[in-house]
Amino acid sequence: MTVRLAQGNNAAGLVTVYLYSMLLAELASHFELYAVCGPCRRMARIDVHRLLDSLGARATTDDVRARVRCRACSKRTGDIRIVYAGPCGGARGFHYRGSGA
Ligand SMILES: [Zn+2]
Repeated sequence: MTVRLAQGNNAAGLVTVYLYSMLLAELASHFELYAVCGPCRRMARIDVHRLLDSLGARATTDDVRARVRCRACSKRTGDIRIVYAGPCGGARGFHYRGSGA
């Protein structure tokens, strides 16, 4: 699991969106989830597919939020960021472009 150290909300210039109580199954293909600890300024990528395996197809972002715990300070921060990644992570700089345009 990748752990990113981030300053504030503008981590790595990613576009952060806030969608509450969405099904993980709907998020998995286009969004990345990060667990956040404000006091420690830590962001850790959440493996959505692994969560789906353990929580089931009806799991929502609220279920994830309830489970977020910081490894550094052991607090349950209940804070997540939902980042739009696009199909296959395309919005994060991994572009497949058509030859036109
Ligand atoms: Zn912490």
